[in-house]
Amino acid sequence: MYDVIVIGAGSGGLNIAVFMNMLKLNVLLIDKSDPNIGGDCLNTGCIPSKALLHVASLIQKGEEAKRFGSYSKKNTNLKKVMEYVKNQQHIIREHENAFYFKQKGIDVVLGHAKFISDRSVVVNNDIFVGKKIIIATGSRPRKLDIPNANKVKFLTNESIFELTKLPKRLLVLGGGPIGIEMAQAFQRLGTSVTVLHTGSMILNKEDPEIAEVVYDQLKKEGVEFILNAKPLAFDSSKILVFEDGKQHERRIHFDEILLSIGRTPNVDHLDVEKAKIKILDNGNLKLNKYLQTTNKRVYVLGDAAGSFMFTHAAETQASQMIKNFFSPFRKKITYENMAWVTYTDPEIATFGISEQDLQTSQKKFRKVIVPFTDDDRAITDEYQFGKMILFVCKKGLLLGGSVVAPKAGEIIQELLLAKSKNIKLTELYDKIYPYPVASRINRSAASLLLREKLTPRTKKFLKWIFNMKK
Ligand SMILES: Cc1cc2nc3c(=O)[nH]c(=O)nc-3n(C[C@H](O)[C@H](O)[C@H](O)COP(=O)(O)OP(=O)(O)OC[C@H]3O[C@@H](n4cnc5c(N)ncnc54)[C@H](O)[C@@H]3O)c2cc1C
Repeated sequence: MYDVIVIGAGSGGLNIAVFMNMLKLNVLLIDKSDPNIGGDCLNTGCIPSKALLHVASLIQKGEEAKRFGSYSKKNTNLKKVMEYVKNQQHIIREHENAFYFKQKGIDVVLGHAKFISDRSVVVNNDIFVGKKIIIATGSRPRKLDIPNANKVKFLTNESIFELTKLPKRLLVLGGGPIGIEMAQAFQRLGTSVTVLHTGSMILNKEDPEIAEVVYDQLKKEGVEFILNAKPLAFDSSKILVFEDGKQHERRIHFDEILLSIGRTPNVDHLDVEKAKIKILDNGNLKLNKYLQTTNKRVYVLGDAAGSFMFTHAAETQASQMIKNFFSPFRKKITYENMAWVTYTDPEIATFGISEQDLQTSQKKFRKVIVPFTDDDRAITDEYQFGKMILFVCKKGLLLGGSVVAPKAGEIIQELLLAKSKNIKLTELYDKIYPYPVASRINRSAASLLLREKLTPRTKKFLKWIFNMKK
């Protein structure tokens, strides 16, 4: 009998297990195997993809440095690149493994967990009973269901970091964040990448004006895009037939194909019916605003909950869940301060409420567009193409927004603070920004709003005061 059983030792599960254990509660952590600990983020997601993008950016920089005559591109050794990726993962794995957590006092069981009743799970024929059970089993790549797909050996985020030879032609199916990050990484490493995407612009969840900046940049680097396309069937294991935007049937040859068309929550292999947990028609588990299933002892978090599939979303859910376990007043889990970053170069960082949601909610807001054309740092570092779009309410408080620029994820940090702590955007103007830090663009946004306050009447009044003073 445990106080808490956590199924899945990824970003969400580890957060909750470590905290509950700190409170000296009796915690059982279950994952399929020791190398699985750390979940998608460490093993097949955030960490390997960001390490790969880092190497790709070094190679790209070398290539760009040719302009100054100092570099000549050699063939990328993908084996060495992936060794680097694995090494960076290994550094993190030193504090994310079964032995480490056992030493901290958490019971760790390795194997596949399944429910056998409303309060118990079975792993390798052993039965464990929990007062509370947390499902934190993550997600997996969505399958492509078209004729002959079963004859194709797809790459996914689970296998792409195992490649040791650079593919000549990589076809990326799906222009979401995973597909686009990998497209840029492989193009920069030396592969010819084509992205086939169903929508009219990549990165559907972003403002098209913002996504277009990354689209243009990737195109400049040589990535080919086929938009408004619909995969129809595979002609062979290396040829995809698809319908293009003009309803013409076309064929594309590839050496490797990356499947990145979305993610499916891992909740269908847990025998949840035995725990009286209701499954919705779309296959997700029915959850209330506290991420509780129809069995009040069982909670879900992270990708398995099927909402925002990010490491920090899992962390946020875990921390609110913990607060609710101990507070007499439970708080619903809300996402109005959610933010995310697509780690392409340039990055896209988005936070708060989208323009579409603001329009639907009929909330009054102003759209502030801040170009980077006159930003001194953008000029020195060649990113005048950058763009910032902010949504501000009448009181001057931030509602949401997006930035596309190198390191946009760092630039928006103070905007996130301002949004979550109800600090007016104009208040940033008085902060000292060492010249020329990239985040001075936030001051430009504040200055744009302040300048609007300078009506002809105010200007006249200020002039009068100036002339009155000796
Ligand atoms: C390529 C890629 C790049 C990404 N980059 C980013 C990024 O830069 N930033 C970001 O915020 N997010 C990123 N993500 C998303 C992020 O990885 C996930 O949102 C996050 O890992 C979800 O955490 P989780 O705890 O829900 O699931 P996971 O971390 O996946 O953990 C689930 C765990 O449950 C275990 N498990 C599953 N079923 C069972 C079972 N029946 N019994 C026992 N154990 C089980 C699995 O082995 C796994 O270890 C990326 C994802 C991918 C695929």
